[in-house]
Amino acid sequence: MRASCSISVPRYGPRASLLPPAEKLGYRLVVDLYPKQKPAPVKTVKQVLPGEPRPVVIAIDAGHGGEDPGALGATGSHEKNITLQVARELKRQIDREPGMSAILTRDGDYYVKREDRYRKAREARADLFVSIHADACPGSCETARGSSVWVLSTRGASSEAARRLADRENRADLIGGVSLDDKEDSLAAVLLDLQQGATMDASNAVAEHVLVALRQIGPTHRRQVERANFVVLRSPDVPSILVETAFISNPAEEKRLKDPSHREKLAAAIVDGARNYFRMMPPQGTWFAANADKFRPSRHVVGRGETLAIIAERHGVTPGKLRSANKLASDSLRVGDVLDIPAG
Ligand SMILES: [Zn+2]
Repeated sequence: MRASCSISVPRYGPRASLLPPAEKLGYRLVVDLYPKQKPAPVKTVKQVLPGEPRPVVIAIDAGHGGEDPGALGATGSHEKNITLQVARELKRQIDREPGMSAILTRDGDYYVKREDRYRKAREARADLFVSIHADACPGSCETARGSSVWVLSTRGASSEAARRLADRENRADLIGGVSLDDKEDSLAAVLLDLQQGATMDASNAVAEHVLVALRQIGPTHRRQVERANFVVLRSPDVPSILVETAFISNPAEEKRLKDPSHREKLAAAIVDGARNYFRMMPPQGTWFAANADKFRPSRHVVGRGETLAIIAERHGVTPGKLRSANKLASDSLRVGDVLDIPAG
């Protein structure tokens, strides 16, 4: 919703909200004026000397912000504030990791357009884009719980609930006055599809790793990475995932999201997943590529189309060794299964 003011208030930004009927009053449209926060410039990533391997760069995207509050929590928290707190904690942890560096696409309570979120990631030459959100289940499903990890699907959502969630998250672009399908003719859509193929494979792989890491800190909403057409993930050149940290509409989960120690665990799980991914698939010229021989992955998350033989070959072990290390009765694997990788 956009509010218009007839008076000039250059230093203040309007925020409109619809209040439900109370006592004799019907629905009320309330326009609040808040001091406008200046968007902070994108912080530069860790400096490297010429010839030295560069760190991988992770662009952390705190969902919503400013006039777009996102979902409303069970006791009134706004998603935009939770996402920013998680994003800042994630940046703090990434920056202290060897070979990793992070930037924030938003570092305050202001609205950032989708294109600007991408632009900041691209300017920082990000290797990964992680959009942080908090889910809500409107209506009577306040027991819905658990985090989930999403990747883009341009061909359809993994469920009806997935489609509804994407609709809700995508609405942010309408709040900012930009049409979702702005300038998107069919040719552009086809080109985007082609370019996205490789990026989507990488997105899938990193999403699987992050989901496995999140499972270590509590039950996830679903066992598998989910797919829907999130516009914020439609970057053709940067692998992108969206993490719904928890259900803000569930009072117990809202409380946990407000707890700094839980946010620390959440961020640590995302770092863990990203670290595992970069160890397995280090981008060229990075610290991870330079140290590849030190990192023998100890586990593998089964991705789509992977067979026992393919996984064994990739890790330089025989299928038999892989089978016995994981006590597998048959060679059939399910996407998302975690395999221990024995020494080669
Ligand atoms: Zn959101």
